[in-house]
Amino acid sequence: MLDFQLALSQPEAHPSEGVYDLIVLGGGPAGLTAAIYAGRARIQTLVILGPLPGGQPANTEEVENFPGFPEGIGGADLARRFLAQAERFGARLIPASVTGVDLSIRPFIIRTDGATYRAHTLVIAMGAVPRRLGVPGEDRFFGRGVSTCATCDGFFYRDKRVVVVGGGDSAIIEGLYLTRFAREVIVVHRRDQLRATRIYQERAFANPRMRFLWDSVVEEILGEQTVTGVRVRHLKTGETSIIEADGVFVYIGMEPQTQLFVGQLELDEHGYIITDRRQRTSVPGVFAAGDIQDPFYRQLVVAASTGAIAAMEVEKYLELYPQSPQGSDRW
Ligand code: NAP
Repeated sequence: MLDFQLALSQPEAHPSEGVYDLIVLGGGPAGLTAAIYAGRARIQTLVILGPLPGGQPANTEEVENFPGFPEGIGGADLARRFLAQAERFGARLIPASVTGVDLSIRPFIIRTDGATYRAHTLVIAMGAVPRRLGVPGEDRFFGRGVSTCATCDGFFYRDKRVVVVGGGDSAIIEGLYLTRFAREVIVVHRRDQLRATRIYQERAFANPRMRFLWDSVVEEILGEQTVTGVRVRHLKTGETSIIEADGVFVYIGMEPQTQLFVGQLELDEHGYIITDRRQRTSVPGVFAAGDIQDPFYRQLVVAASTGAIAAMEVEKYLELYPQSPQGSDRW
């Protein structure tokens, strides 16, 4: 986890308090941008940061496509800047995770392990987490041979051989990063074409340490005490084979963190929160931003922009319904 040096408030110190104008659920690029905008609008804002303060950039080695950094910027550095900027404009950031929400009463109720909070408006920006393969061996070796974070674990594979599963941007970017350590990175992809952006594909194909196993899926992660390889099946021939490897990095997409909102907010068939162009959800006063409501783009810059929109909509909403609006279905 990102070790940032901000004066974060301790949740236990404020077990019961007044009603916030806004609680932001999630401290990634979307949530922190919402907090920056809300803070500048003098909206009293609490951010419940969640398990990874700074969000996905905190676990990313290098960010190349965020405007304003022509040489790229370290993901952890960028995450730290987001946090500092939100604090600078007055948001209160707490290092806790949301454990419960009640959107049926107003002010809305948000619970963490240590406390209960209330707010007139919410911006839900809890993001998405890496999808898991669901094959034998994955759970057993997770965190000790199976990983979804090359930035965190790549270092352990110096001169070793690793398998990367997936063909999207994450798989290829993180696979390229792993070539700094591993002597060989084998990308196992279920089709014979990558989904990743062209520039990353070109770099991957040009990298002598990267190899590709097309039309193949991992069926099992093998090993006794440590990972020794994977069993893969070729989807066109049906043949199975074993690839020796010391580690497996899984990058097969993301799942939105919406379990707490089932039955409370409208979700789409994949579990993403449904929002309109103004980031409004099915409950007036509740907005959503970032990957939790974005099955398409999932880019840092897009997450940040939806966070900004959500905060501006919060501002309008609070102006129209300053005191805990009831029955505001005209909104
Ligand atoms: P993604 O684009 O959804 O790609 C997931 C990959 O995993 C696909 O290649 C998919 O195969 C494969 N896959 C899915 N389920 C699988 C399964 N059960 N078994 C085997 N393979 C499976 O996910 P992502 O790479 O995490 O990227 C998510 C979003 O973040 C994308 O929009 C991406 O552009 C963005 N992103 C951007 C950057 C950047 O710096 N620009 C970095 C990382 C991520 P198919 O191709 O056959 O569907």
